[in-house]
Amino acid sequence: DALAALIASRLRDVPDFPKPGVVFKDFTPLLADPVAMRAIVDDAVARYSGEVDVIAGIEARGFMIGTAVAVALGVPFVPIRKKGKLPAATFTASYDLEYGTETIEVHQDSCREGQRVLVMDDVLATGGTAAAACELIERTGAQVVALDVVCEIGFLRGRERLGGHRVRSLLSI
Ligand code: 5GP
Repeated sequence: DALAALIASRLRDVPDFPKPGVVFKDFTPLLADPVAMRAIVDDAVARYSGEVDVIAGIEARGFMIGTAVAVALGVPFVPIRKKGKLPAATFTASYDLEYGTETIEVHQDSCREGQRVLVMDDVLATGGTAAAACELIERTGAQVVALDVVCEIGFLRGRERLGGHRVRSLLSI
């Protein structure tokens, strides 16, 4: 559709980043285009208005998209961060990377029992990050309405790691 085409035109492929053989989807041209960002926010508002109580964004580009959508929806924004960045008491989840592990956290008091949370990020790749983020939200007692990403890299099969969670991507490649 038109929105997917607009987004595709604003993502830059950077070969061999962060390491040889990886083609990184660079999000910065999209952030630099307020018309495209407005279209993404409007789409999220049309879809989720009245359906979500909180937006949770995954560090770091999930903060950029997530805060914009949270303000437009008039709901709180909750950051999910790399280990060691959040100052108060946290829940912690670790997941495997190709080499080693990554750990992310959320404040224990960031969401309340029963709240409907939309988890947002820029890119869904292998799904490890998003699955850990959804687990963290559920540990607060809240429920995950869906995982919403701008771009999904289909061949990495991230959806399969998301178990029963609803996954929506604006652009699937
Ligand atoms: P996953 O855990 O699904 O393998 O990786 C997803 C996480 O890594 C997301 O937080 C996303 O920001 C980042 N990521 C992985 N690949 C890319 C990419 O090609 N482009 C961008 N912008 N982020 C990526």
